[in-house]
Amino acid sequence: MSSNINIQRICEHCGKPFRAKTTVTRFCGTICNGRHAKQKIRDLKIKVSDKEVKENITSVINHPVLMEFLTIKQAAQLLGLCTKTLYNILQSGKIKAVRLSTRKTIIKRTEIDKVFEQSEFEAPIREKPKKNPHPRYCYTMAQAQDQFNCSEKALYDLIKRNNLSKFQDGWYTYVLKSDLHSIFNQNR
Ligand SMILES: [Zn+2]
Repeated sequence: MSSNINIQRICEHCGKPFRAKTTVTRFCGTICNGRHAKQKIRDLKIKVSDKEVKENITSVINHPVLMEFLTIKQAAQLLGLCTKTLYNILQSGKIKAVRLSTRKTIIKRTEIDKVFEQSEFEAPIREKPKKNPHPRYCYTMAQAQDQFNCSEKALYDLIKRNNLSKFQDGWYTYVLKSDLHSIFNQNR
């Protein structure tokens, strides 16, 4: 590069001829130089947004919602499930799927919709865990045997026969004192 030269060039921005001072000068002056730089940034921005738009369109077109046939992965994505859970559902027969080969299973989109049309929702019944009464109101099995002077078997038979509530806490089984007392008082 030399600053002693003086050559005729065409400005890359405005297209006008100018005298270049170096072999690498591309613009007629600082104005064109600046404008060209700005133009370049603008072009780049447009290019980036074009790419983003294209990517968005592609992702929308390929979205499982719009597809007629889904892979396991796509169907799982659509339902918000992990593939393992989906396989369990397929196994149960709730959703029909076709296994085309050992590694390729497909689900028809409409099969998924069908499930929603057919099923009536039933909330799972959750049994309330039995809350243990305070130990002060209870006998352990050993205590009850002592108290009523009966064998373990007799005690269990009595509990079973009278359908008494038993409570479990760690190693111990408890019965309500009041339950036992009322039964033993009756039988007296
Ligand atoms: Zn120029």
